[in-house]
Amino acid sequence: MSVSNIQMVDLNSQYLKIKPQIDAAIAKVISETSFINGPAVKELQLKMQEKFKVKHVIPCGNGTDALQIALMALDLKEGDEIITSTFTFIATAEVISLLNLKPIFVDVYPDTFGINIEQVKAKISPKTKVIIPVHLYGQTCNMEELCQIAKDNNLYIIEDTAQAINSEFTFSNGDKKFAGTIGDIGTTSFFPSKNLGCFGDGGAIFTNNDTLAEKMRMIINHGSKIKYHHEIVGVNSRLDTLQAAILNVKLDYLDEYCANRQKAADYYTKNLQNINEIITPTIHSKGTHVFHQYTLRVLNNKRDELKKHLESKGIPSMIYYPISLHQQKAFANFHNGESLVVAEQLEKEVISLPMHTELDVETLQFICENVQEFFAK
Ligand SMILES: *Cc1c(COP(=O)(O)O)cnc(C)c1O
Repeated sequence: MSVSNIQMVDLNSQYLKIKPQIDAAIAKVISETSFINGPAVKELQLKMQEKFKVKHVIPCGNGTDALQIALMALDLKEGDEIITSTFTFIATAEVISLLNLKPIFVDVYPDTFGINIEQVKAKISPKTKVIIPVHLYGQTCNMEELCQIAKDNNLYIIEDTAQAINSEFTFSNGDKKFAGTIGDIGTTSFFPSKNLGCFGDGGAIFTNNDTLAEKMRMIINHGSKIKYHHEIVGVNSRLDTLQAAILNVKLDYLDEYCANRQKAADYYTKNLQNINEIITPTIHSKGTHVFHQYTLRVLNNKRDELKKHLESKGIPSMIYYPISLHQQKAFANFHNGESLVVAEQLEKEVISLPMHTELDVETLQFICENVQEFFAK
């Protein structure tokens, strides 16, 4: 059996299913020439506030800017410490050092890939001001414990929700909240391959705090509320109206998209969990996993061989992430050489299989059979 043209992410098929709606939304923005701050941007803000049950949504240029703007809103001083996960995309920590703040990297849990909470506690110093948990691959960190630590130590939490939009966390009293709406600020990305992707760059910031919301609305717009009156130093980071118009269409499909990803993940797990040398993803009991990535751990140093085997069958795969942040050259000045052993092991073990909204059973079966075949040798 063979299946042709398997992709990590299939954005074209996804687009074709809603092409008339998307094309009409784009045509409307063009005919109105409302390219900057057009009505679709406000519409997206309101739709997302309702969908994610959060008081303020601030659309912005991309997920990296969202993180930077969140940090800029917190009145931090040079050298203040920000505790974050070492096992994430560089954007999470890049903005910390750009603002002359100090990233403090901690390890993750080997099963959920969430930030290690004991290590967060151990790294808190008088200079610590913020914790940035990353909801990696589509599943929230333990926000209940993190919120308690933040409260006890008077720290802010910025949730990096670039990979976990629409994932929910359930507190022990039964309350459910969406990822990104639990800490002081949440940030997300609409990069095309993210779970809610636009057709270029895009991002958003979530908060329930009125004061922070007002400040961040100013920051994204050159630090001004009234045109040409600049109260603080800001940036230019707006979401294009075209992107907002596309997202307004796609937001209505987000639940369906998540369900498709979960179905694909379920298929993978059912068919791969019995392989001894593989660990399939753990879904923790406190929430929903929206499977931005479906990431296996491959034991006994066989990961790279598996990757090659799949490649030879026309099956793409990716390593997220091959180098943890504490080992990146760019952060050499920020890390003291301490090993973060779990992340260093995961770098060698993880492999992400194709995961998107359009995977059919035939393709999933083909991928699983080829993984099985590799380990049967
Ligand atoms: C994608 C991503 C970002 C950055 O988003 P951009 O929109 O590409 O700037 C930040 N953090 C994580 C964890 C991401 O996956």
